[in-house]
Amino acid sequence: MILNKIGNIIKQNKSFAVVSHIIPDGDAIGSTLGLYNFLSEIGKDVDVFNPDKLPSKFNFLPGFFDVKDTLVKRHYDCIFVLDCSDKDRLGHLVELLNMADVVINIDHHISNDLFADINYVDTNAGAVGEIIYNLIRINGFEISYNTAMCLYTSIVTDTGGFKYSNTTSMTLNIAGDLINTGIDFPEINRILFDTLTAQQVKLLSRVTSTLELYNNNSIAMLHVTKDMLEECGANENDASEMVNYARDIDTVEVGVFIKEVEKGKFRVSLRSKNKIDVRIIAEKFNGGGHIRAAGCTVYGDFDEVKNKVLNEIINHWK
Ligand code: AMP
Ligand code: MN
Ligand code: MN
Repeated sequence: MILNKIGNIIKQNKSFAVVSHIIPDGDAIGSTLGLYNFLSEIGKDVDVFNPDKLPSKFNFLPGFFDVKDTLVKRHYDCIFVLDCSDKDRLGHLVELLNMADVVINIDHHISNDLFADINYVDTNAGAVGEIIYNLIRINGFEISYNTAMCLYTSIVTDTGGFKYSNTTSMTLNIAGDLINTGIDFPEINRILFDTLTAQQVKLLSRVTSTLELYNNNSIAMLHVTKDMLEECGANENDASEMVNYARDIDTVEVGVFIKEVEKGKFRVSLRSKNKIDVRIIAEKFNGGGHIRAAGCTVYGDFDEVKNKVLNEIINHWK
């Protein structure tokens, strides 16, 4: 069993690095910090990284302020890459892969290209946090309160609060076990799902007014420009969940959110309800993700990007 093999590597080695993908989401942050806390607690020498600045709403998580975005040349016995389907998703931290004896890739994306020395990809896992939980337990270790906070965050965010179809009985059993450590999960849920800044509420009204519907109201598009963010005093991450307003419309199957990153470069988030595999659409633009949630970066002016994405969705529908 690969998780036992990985457990032996943990037991037999001393120095570790843990890293996840660019533009980190709750799973990237929660699974990395969960493994970071666990390894630190059992006495390992651990560095934790992310290529991008973490959204501040996750700053309640133990270890949040230890996350670094730059490398110092050194050697690690082992590096863990989590929730990351390919090397490019490591951004400038891709260099880390040359700094260790063993690179271990733990993920749940079907599109994972198995770039590491040891690859453990479980596409049935709702979140990478579930796999980290199993890794710790199968190897005979306990889950601490701090590690549980992080793993719970990973799982509850990637399953949309246990609402999406990637939620399994295993997900709920693991979450139950994590809750038994005494973590304040209602407070964590409130921070993650029921908290907005004033800037975000202002931005929401700007973003929802961009709504456009296509294909008999089955495709909804929302967008945000850099100017809109600035007008509302909002930052890059403040719009990250707004794609859900497009998806949530009763007649909609596919919700699209287009965010201007810089002139001529747009980040596109795709969400679906029941029928359309949005990962396939994202992959047409060199992106990826899951059946119900995927993303990609598309280049061109705004109308061009919008039409390219729209055409791809409509083609895929046929
Ligand atoms: P987002 O719309 O950025 O929240 O992404 C939705 C899901 O797709 C998340 O699971 C992401 O990790 C994944 N994803 C987004 N962009 C990419 C990409 N370029 N390659 C692979 N997976 C991605
Ligand atoms: Mn992720
Ligand atoms: Mn994930």
